[in-house]
Parts: sequence; C-alpha cells; structure tokens
Amino acid sequence: MSFELSTSDYLKYFEAVTERIFKDKDYITSLDAATGDGDHWANLNKGFQAVMSAKESLVELNFGDLFKQIGMKIMNSVGGSSGVLYGSAYIGAAKICKDIDVLDRVLLCDVLDSMTAAMMKRGDSKPGQKTMIDAIYPAVQAYRQALENNLPDGELLSNVKQASINGANGTKDLEAVRGRACYQANKGVGHLDPGAVTMSYQIETLMEYIQSII
Ligand code: ADP
Ligand code: MG
Repeated sequence: MSFELSTSDYLKYFEAVTERIFKDKDYITSLDAATGDGDHWANLNKGFQAVMSAKESLVELNFGDLFKQIGMKIMNSVGGSSGVLYGSAYIGAAKICKDIDVLDRVLLCDVLDSMTAAMMKRGDSKPGQKTMIDAIYPAVQAYRQALENNLPDGELLSNVKQASINGANGTKDLEAVRGRACYQANKGVGHLDPGAVTMSYQIETLMEYIQSII
C-alpha cells in the first residue's frame, strides 16, 4: 500500500505551508535578524505568495511542469539565497517528474532527494553547515530508511517529519559554514538557522497533509 499525491494535493499542501509561513512572520524574521539580515521571511513569503497567486493556472499541469513553474516563480520573485536555492530545488525535482501525474511514496522520496541534491549543488553545501540542508537531508535519510524497512505510511510520515524537526533544532549548536551566519563572530552558535526552520515547516506540513488524506 502506498499513498498517492495528485498535483491538486500538492497545491493544497503548498497553500497550507504558505499560510503557516505567512502567520509566523515575526518569529522567522527574528531568527534571520539574529544571525543574518532579517529578510528570510520576506523572501520566502514573497516567493510562496507568487506561486499561490498563479494557483488556477498551475492545477492543470503534470508534476514536471508544476515543479518547473514553482521553481521559476520563486526564482524570479525572490532575492537572496533562498530564492536561488528553492528555485534550483524545484527545477531539480521537475527533471525527474516529466509527464508524471501522480506521486507515490517512492517517487516522493526521489523528489525530496533531488531537491536536496540540487540545493547542495547550487549552494556548494552539505549537511552540518547550519543551513536549510540540515532540515531536509536527514528527512530524506529517514524516508529512505522507512522505505527499506517497508514501514506503514503513518510511521513513515511521522519519522520523516520528526527527522526534519530534529535537524532544524540541531542547527542551534552548529557553527555556520555557509550563509550569512558564518560572518558572525561566534558563527551563529546558540541560534537556530532560519532557513532550516522554514524548511522543517515544509516537511512537517507536507507529512501532515499526506496523513490527513490517507
Ligand atoms: P540571504 O541569506 O541571502 O539573506 P535568506 O535570508 O532568504 O537569504 O535565506 C537565508 C537562509 O538560506 C539561511 O538561513 C540558510 O538556511 C540558507 N542558505 C544560505 N546559504 C546557503 C548555502 N550556500 N547552501 C544552503 N543553504 C544556504
Ligand atoms: Mg536573509
């Protein structure tokens, strides 16, 4: 048994996470103000709102075209590292979803994996550097492990979500090697990385959305 996601499901998830990010303006802004330049919320909110305002035209697309459009809309509307990184992530995922109308649980893992790989390539980054990668890389690892162990959907979703939350929380103790926090005297130690926190919102919201439809 496997869950399945249509593009309409994906857009419902995207709407839910856009709302979550929108509501958390002050918290996310304060995280980036502590170790960066304070614009992370504004960047991400702008990009996700740009995608949502095109929702009607996106719902007819297959996953390859949907991800390509999301990537381009984010890249074209957002300045800052997150615009380029999210743009690369979605365009990377588009490449493995050509003509695909439905994501099953194996393909969704490949999608998250390809997003992670594209971001690491674009950002010349890897896990442990106090970035958004720290919230998605361990989620993909937990996902692969769950598939290998043939865990039921509910357990898989909960493991992936928890791995992402733990990864984001773990950035508090890390020294920044990438991103603006590496210019701080103490490399941001003692502060959460804003990009990792918002990445964990996305994984968490996606897993919760899937749980709500199975
Ligand atoms: P900027 O840093 O340009 O102001 P944002 O504030 O929108 O852009 O995004 C900051 C986030 O981007 C950081 O918290 C970090 O998670 C992520 N980030 C920055 N540089 C990199 C990189 N090279 N690789 C991966 N993630 C990065
Ligand atoms: Mg910033």
